[in-house]
Amino acid sequence: DQLVVAVDGPSGSGKSSVSKEVARRFGLAYLDTGAMYRALTWWCLDRGVDLADAAAVADAARELPLDQGTDPDRESVLVAGTDVGEEIRGARVTESVSAVATNPAARAALVARQQEVIARSGRRIVAEGRDITTVVAPDAHARILLTADERARMARRGLQNGGTPDAEQLHQQVVGRDAKDSTIVNFTEAADGVVTIDSSDLTVEQTVQAVIDVVVR
Ligand code: C5P
Repeated sequence: DQLVVAVDGPSGSGKSSVSKEVARRFGLAYLDTGAMYRALTWWCLDRGVDLADAAAVADAARELPLDQGTDPDRESVLVAGTDVGEEIRGARVTESVSAVATNPAARAALVARQQEVIARSGRRIVAEGRDITTVVAPDAHARILLTADERARMARRGLQNGGTPDAEQLHQQVVGRDAKDSTIVNFTEAADGVVTIDSSDLTVEQTVQAVIDVVVR
């Protein structure tokens, strides 16, 4: 049976770990759309594309030679055959990704690819990002907005960055990026029919359970 689960939320909300685990529990594919924006950003930086040049970035989005896996147990992101899985999480890409994500034509190209991935999965997939519940898959069977307060999001992202990050850089990576991102897509308020789950005081397992409750109800 078809089962599309759409999960949106800010950075550090726990979206990725929770979405992957929900995909495992239901035997679904998994799509990290943030990785697509990151891969495009990496490719633009690698090829020296000026991120302020809207037409050039849009061309790059249409041409992006991306091969992204959908196995929740084995994430793989290849750009022109190069494994960029590590580099797209680095500070260089993270600091530039919002600039790429503000480009409407680039977004349109990536949204079309995301919808292809969902179709190719046989509509058995958990897709996570910022605009999945509203733009990419507004017809998903379960639509969830995963939130967390600033304190919890900074703490989680800090752990991901290795535990002892520069406080100011961390604040910029979490709060600054969300401020920029929310001018592009509104993921701070749940759209009609979208269920909000606040994970601030929940463990990963409790958050997974809360998402499963929405899926099975
Ligand atoms: O989820 P993640 O933090 O990896 O996303 C990286 C960036 O990609 C976000 O900061 C945002 O600018 C962009 N993004 C987006 N729409 C999505 C997913 C990610 O604009 N659906």
